[in-house]
Amino acid sequence: MTDFTTTKTLFHLPEGMTYLDGNSLGPLPLSATDRMAEVMQGEWGEMLITGWNKAGWIHQPSRLGDRIGRLIGAEPGHVVVGDTLSIKVYQALAAALALSPDRRVVLSDTGNFPTDLYMARGLLDTLGQGHTLQLVDPEQVAASLSDEVAVLMLTDVDFCTGRRHDMRALTEKAHELGIITIWDLAHSAGADAIDVTGCGTDFAVGCTYKYLNGGPGAPAFIYVAPRHADNALPALSGWLGHAAPFAFDLDYRAGQGIERMRVGTPPVLQMAALDAALDVWDGVAMADVRARAVELSEMLIAGVSEQCPDLQLASPRDPAQRGSHVSFRHPEGYAVIQALIARGVIGDFRTPDILRFGITPLFLDETDIARAVTILEEIMQDRVWDRDEYKVRQLVT
Ligand SMILES: *Cc1c(COP(=O)(O)O)cnc(C)c1O
Repeated sequence: MTDFTTTKTLFHLPEGMTYLDGNSLGPLPLSATDRMAEVMQGEWGEMLITGWNKAGWIHQPSRLGDRIGRLIGAEPGHVVVGDTLSIKVYQALAAALALSPDRRVVLSDTGNFPTDLYMARGLLDTLGQGHTLQLVDPEQVAASLSDEVAVLMLTDVDFCTGRRHDMRALTEKAHELGIITIWDLAHSAGADAIDVTGCGTDFAVGCTYKYLNGGPGAPAFIYVAPRHADNALPALSGWLGHAAPFAFDLDYRAGQGIERMRVGTPPVLQMAALDAALDVWDGVAMADVRARAVELSEMLIAGVSEQCPDLQLASPRDPAQRGSHVSFRHPEGYAVIQALIARGVIGDFRTPDILRFGITPLFLDETDIARAVTILEEIMQDRVWDRDEYKVRQLVT
């Protein structure tokens, strides 16, 4: 059994703050500060350029990839870290389309995160081969699969409502029709017991600054199924994905396996923070995290429905249909969240009316949930949110 009392002590959680936003940006792992200092002084400072070999910076992307791979059910050697998630979505889609040259439809849903769709549109426009991006309601995905679809590109958990797809069933159905699948695990990696190998997905991507706690701007990851690893087209064919970067060949030759999904120089300092963040996961079983997240989510939903009747649940009521955040609707949702933040309970707002709360068992327990519900009740009962100061919109909500 995972010891969640211990994992909580491994994070810096500001005094007086109840942090329900680990689904957007995980908190600082205590060991990350020292690790960053060591890498800055001992490696960058002392080793300078020799750090690429001596400190192994050059292998960091695949080493960290394997650490993440364990958490999403990937076999070693099939995940690599780098760039941002938007970039990794682009690469995965380009590679997937190249595996299906005779079809012209990319299927996704209206619950996808906009950047995934923007990147897809940008890629399809650049290709100029007449591909279309077809968007359907999440409930219509299964019925919309056909032998015209080249790629099914979905985000497992809806960033707004927390609605979760059945990754296994959809992948299986897609494969029966010869469709390549890409799963975005942005809200699943570090939140749920994902099994990319068992589900048989072709590609998966995700980010590390949400549930994995890698810090603001921490790099993304990409998984390529072993069967595609040596023939997937990298699309963004940068020198560090080349078979021999230091041969400085004028022609591009893709590297072996997952290495080809690397692009350029990796962010060594940010990877040091991510490495420290991944230490926390060493003693953690994903099934325990998921079970505990369901317990705490149920407690939040029960508390809010009893004590804050003006808030309407926006997430599925059935935990099996839900990821690891819980959302509610209120017409003044933005102001409610600002009032909460002012009282040390951190959630966030998604337009037009969604209040979002991330349930992250590594550092949250019943006391946190109870405190959040009590403060939310005060804000709703006394209409504390109805003050001008809480209605001023900031850029990041
Ligand atoms: C958070 C998130 C992103 C963010 O992409 P970046 O390039 O890292 O900014 C993309 N897709 C999904 C589904 C997300 O949840």
